[in-house]
Amino acid sequence: MTYDANNIFAKILRGEIPSHKIYEDEHTLAFMDVMPQVDGHCLVVPKVGSRNLLDAELSTLTPLMATVQKVARAAKAAFKADGLQIRQYNEPAAGQTVFHLHFHIMPMNEGQALRGHSGKMADHGVLAKHAEMIRKSL
Ligand code: 5GP
Repeated sequence: MTYDANNIFAKILRGEIPSHKIYEDEHTLAFMDVMPQVDGHCLVVPKVGSRNLLDAELSTLTPLMATVQKVARAAKAAFKADGLQIRQYNEPAAGQTVFHLHFHIMPMNEGQALRGHSGKMADHGVLAKHAEMIRKSL
């Protein structure tokens, strides 16, 4: 399986389509998922292109996991969550729909149900507010 640079996250990284950004550094970008499964659901991607975890270089994963941890802490604090889930899908059989490596961060409260994966598009005003809440907790 090869990497196709026409995927939606590559377009977000190139600034060709908008996103609600939370955090950016030399190697990574974090932004809100447009179809959030919980409030505060966000995504972290490396700037270097790989299809998923299976073809990623170790040098990509080290800064990526540092950003996953940083944003996870901020999302948990911003949403006063009891915990959070980190998810990462590899290949269509496992639920992957966008073929640029990414980690999902989902703040969770006790007994909370998840909305559907790639389900309903959220209101952009709400996503902008949630991105700001997480940014303020970084
Ligand atoms: P996957 O199934 O590949 O792990 O997840 C892809 C995620 O990207 C889904 O949760 C979906 O809601 C999200 N997504 C799909 N298209 C867009 C988009 O254009 N912008 C953003 N911010 N998220 C997207």
